[in-house]
Formats: sequence, structure tokens, C-alpha cells
Amino acid sequence: MNFSRRYPLNVPGKFYINDQCTDCDLCRESAPDNITRDDRIGHSYVYKQPENEEEIALVQEGVEGCPTGGVGEDGDRFDWTSEPIMDWNEHMQRWDHKVRFDLEVPVVSYEEILAEDRAAMRKWRTENTPSLWRRLFAKIKK
Ligand code: SF4
Repeated sequence: MNFSRRYPLNVPGKFYINDQCTDCDLCRESAPDNITRDDRIGHSYVYKQPENEEEIALVQEGVEGCPTGGVGEDGDRFDWTSEPIMDWNEHMQRWDHKVRFDLEVPVVSYEEILAEDRAAMRKWRTENTPSLWRRLFAKIKK
């Protein structure tokens, strides 16, 4: 799993197109209800995650058949509806639009996103890890 290799227009979810797409059309033909083309630069992306067995099988065909290994699948290791992941995708889409097309959209840089993530992780650790002193104090009280 490497978020930075996902083409930024992919919707959050386990299937995605990475940066190896050469625009051959195979995956779009096999799964037109889930994968489409970014006409601006000729690159596929997942615009809707598959929602039933039939759609999953068709997208899976792309995973197996893509000549460049451009269709990826991350399984169920992540909660794709969770806020950090949704935020990440939104950041990446805005970043992509700014960098590739110089559109006037509010954007933060990749480094800022990483810094935000690191700060959030530090905050989470601080809030969820009781300090050594607190743990010692709890032991003494027992
Ligand atoms: S099959 Fe692979 S190379 Fe062809 S369009 Fe899809 S992602 Fe791109």
C-alpha cells in the first residue's frame, strides 16, 4: 500500500489505479461502471468502488489483466470510510489539480499534508498513552 502512488482522482476504497497506467483502455472496457478515463492527460481512475459481486469480478479482471500492473487492490486492511483516509484523498485530489493543471483551488502541499498527519499522530499518542508517572501512580494507589 502506498497512498502516494494512487492516481489522485480515485475515490477512496480498496481498488485504485496507480501511476503506471499507460491508457490502454483494457480496465475501462472490462469495468465501465467503475473505472473511467481522465481525458485531460489520458489516465484511468476508479470513479466508483464496485458494490456487488459482478462489479468486483469485472474490476478484478483489470487487476489481473493490466499490462503494466496499473490496477491495484488493497483488500480490507483499511477502514475506507474513516476520516483520515477520506481527508487524504481529498487533499490528494486538490493537490493533483493544482500541480497538474494549475487550477485555482485551495491547496496544501504534500509536505504540509505529511506534517499534519505527523502532528495528528503525535496528538493521538499523547492522548491515548498514559504517562509513565500516571501508570506508576495508579500502581501505588492499588
Ligand atoms: S489496464 Fe492498466 S494501463 Fe490499461 S488503462 Fe487500465 S490501468 Fe491503464
